[in-house]
Amino acid sequence: MFERLRQALSSFASSVREKIETRELKPEDLEEPLEELTLSLAEAGVAYDVALGIADSVKRALVGSRVPRGADANSIAREAVAKAIAETLGGTAPDLVEGAKEKCSVGRPYVIAFFGVNGVGKTTTIAKVAKYLKDRGVPVLIAAADTFRAGAQEQLRIHAERLGVPFLGAPYGSDPASVAYNAITMAARRGVCAVLLDTAGRMHADVDLMNELKKIVRVARPDVKILIVDSLTGSDAVEQARTFDESVGVDSIIVTKVDADAKGGTVVSVAAAIRKPIMFLGTGQGYDDLERVDPLSFAKRLVD
Ligand code: GDP
Repeated sequence: MFERLRQALSSFASSVREKIETRELKPEDLEEPLEELTLSLAEAGVAYDVALGIADSVKRALVGSRVPRGADANSIAREAVAKAIAETLGGTAPDLVEGAKEKCSVGRPYVIAFFGVNGVGKTTTIAKVAKYLKDRGVPVLIAAADTFRAGAQEQLRIHAERLGVPFLGAPYGSDPASVAYNAITMAARRGVCAVLLDTAGRMHADVDLMNELKKIVRVARPDVKILIVDSLTGSDAVEQARTFDESVGVDSIIVTKVDADAKGGTVVSVAAAIRKPIMFLGTGQGYDDLERVDPLSFAKRLVD
């Protein structure tokens, strides 16, 4: 997972380490390594303008630095690179467990809306998040506000049954916003703390779809709007992030299928493109293959 990104970052860290060891770093010392870094980030699937931005923030972090007596040049270089990547990743995503428990304590359900194009792994990811919350003591309900894809409803129903979680579907073609509304009412009545709303994802450029999603947002007033993208789709994922963010406003991102991604650039590009945090990574097909992202420790892992 992410071998290319890891390689790009750690070979940069090694090349500046040698320089840091002998003197205080000047901008010209970094020129060549930064050019290399930009190119190898782009090869790892990071959008070129984002790669330039990372190189710039690495430069700001490193110019003028020198190794204090007794300190380790290697860890200073790696730390600076990790910090620059973490900055690019756009902060820490809201804690769903805390949010749901807080909302529940005042008798209202915490509403989480999921957006994304079909095929990115949305159905599977909603099931994973349902289990994640349930395992942490948050009672959840899954609602299918995608009323155009009969298969998606059935798939979600099966996941909900397997997880022992209540499910609310709706007849084919019925109003998705009313499904969302009914789900929230039902959750409030039953004392369910979190409502996970699946929404349609026919085609991100589809105006009707965006209007449908906007209506769901107006009616359901989600506490969190999560966009799901597929790590393997690169620049398409970035494009989707921009479109959904402009239409419905994205709060956090989940990137799926990172287990199958040898590059890793999508995670960085998507977060940088809309300046929103990555909440989870999907790391496999099982219900527990969901990893919470803390930007700094994620970035540190990439440069270690
Ligand atoms: P949807 O059309 O967006 O609802 O996509 P699905 O949830 O049906 O997932 C499409 C395919 O991607 C399925 O075969 C899932 O098992 C697979 N998938 C979803 N998330 C992941 C992941 O994190 N890793 C891997 N390897 N496969 C995943």
